[in-house]
Amino acid sequence: MRISDILSTKQTFSFEIFPPKGEMSQAQAMGVAEQLMDFDPDWISVTFSAGGTGGTESTADIARSIEATGRTSALAHLTCLGSSESDVDYFVARLRSAGVENVLALRGDHAPGREVVDFAHASDLVAYLQGSGMCVGAACYPEGHVECESLERDIENLKVKQDSGVDFLVTQLFFENEDFYRFRERCTRARIKVPIVCGIMPFTSVSQIQRMAFSCGASIPSKVVRRLVRAGDDAASQRAAGIEYACEQMLDLAANGVDGIHVYSMNRPDVGRAAHDRLLEAGYLGATR
Ligand code: FAD
Repeated sequence: MRISDILSTKQTFSFEIFPPKGEMSQAQAMGVAEQLMDFDPDWISVTFSAGGTGGTESTADIARSIEATGRTSALAHLTCLGSSESDVDYFVARLRSAGVENVLALRGDHAPGREVVDFAHASDLVAYLQGSGMCVGAACYPEGHVECESLERDIENLKVKQDSGVDFLVTQLFFENEDFYRFRERCTRARIKVPIVCGIMPFTSVSQIQRMAFSCGASIPSKVVRRLVRAGDDAASQRAAGIEYACEQMLDLAANGVDGIHVYSMNRPDVGRAAHDRLLEAGYLGATR
């Protein structure tokens, strides 16, 4: 099903998984997706890693397998830096032949050997995908993209994505909901009207949160640091604190009328279960617009 159609009827609930990496097999990654489907997500997105972990083929393979279950819809991520138009055509044809209707159009990060071929910005990919028959999503950044000089300029660039035909947006993770509410307000003022789905990732440890803050520029509020300190050195307590904090964030977002909640599951069904149970209890799941 097209995500734009789902978003027009309800506040959504969805998960992100990554394709097999390290020791994990394709079957194991699919096993994670199947377990997450028990929590009735509106869609499951599959990350794309050009030249890195996972590989591009496995993103399409997992997305195809998710769609084939008939239990939910798949959203395949696609980065365009280093890709040609024919690479994109091949990827989209693989999705379409299996009934996958949704793609998240991304630029991807700069890396040695990954130069601009046919696409410099995600908006170029969004424009190229018009007419492909796909429902096209893209990324947005409540605190601004790390490379951009200001949030204002980043929102101007986001408007170009909308003008290029994007159907919906999914945010980078954030730990402070007020940052998202301010961003949503600024988007409204910039006449960005497409639905904005909130991406939420539970923190799992001090080192993971430091890595994330560095790689994606998300700021870490002192209340998060305090939760981690209170959890002590025990890995399980730190993980539990992260899931609890993420659930509290989601409940607040649900109460504040967001378009959707997308959980960065990190391939862990327990994260999906916690989010599902809390949002169900709060009456967020199952409600129509
Ligand atoms: P863009 O929209 O192109 O923006 C990148 C930078 O360029 C920004 O600073 C922006 O302000 C600027 N910019 C945009 N358009 C213009 C313009 N016309 N002129 C001048 N400047 C411009 N990475 C992966 O490798 N695989 C994934 O699966 C993946 N999934 C993601 C999912 C989500 C929801 C998010 C938020 C990010 C994801 N990423 C993924 C990371 C993403 O690839 C990086 O954040 C990347 O640095 C930027 O991608 P983008 O699509 O936002 O790029």
